[in-house]
Amino acid sequence: MTVAVTKLRVEDKLFQNRYLVDQGRPHIKVRPHEHPSANLLALTRICPAKCYELNDKGQVEIAADGCMECGTCRVLCEASGDITWNYPRGGFGVLFKFG
Ligand code: SF4
Repeated sequence: MTVAVTKLRVEDKLFQNRYLVDQGRPHIKVRPHEHPSANLLALTRICPAKCYELNDKGQVEIAADGCMECGTCRVLCEASGDITWNYPRGGFGVLFKFG
């Protein structure tokens, strides 16, 4: 008996998710800073949704659209105050299609 195996990339699965933006009410905010801490800087590399980026001044900015609410940035940077993190309001944020 032969079993057909379909390979599906993680990026393809993530593309199935949908996101409802709560305009003007981001659920994650970065504390204003001149120079990012090491942990804040790390978010530009470890956020799976690529929500964090460096601006032209070398400061970390977030565009929370597409956030999967995995909590990685919360674990790394909330306690230090580098970010504030809340769940989106009901009805907003990520809608997972496959778990
Ligand atoms: S919760 Fe996860 S996906 Fe959302 S911004 Fe933080 S690290 Fe990225």
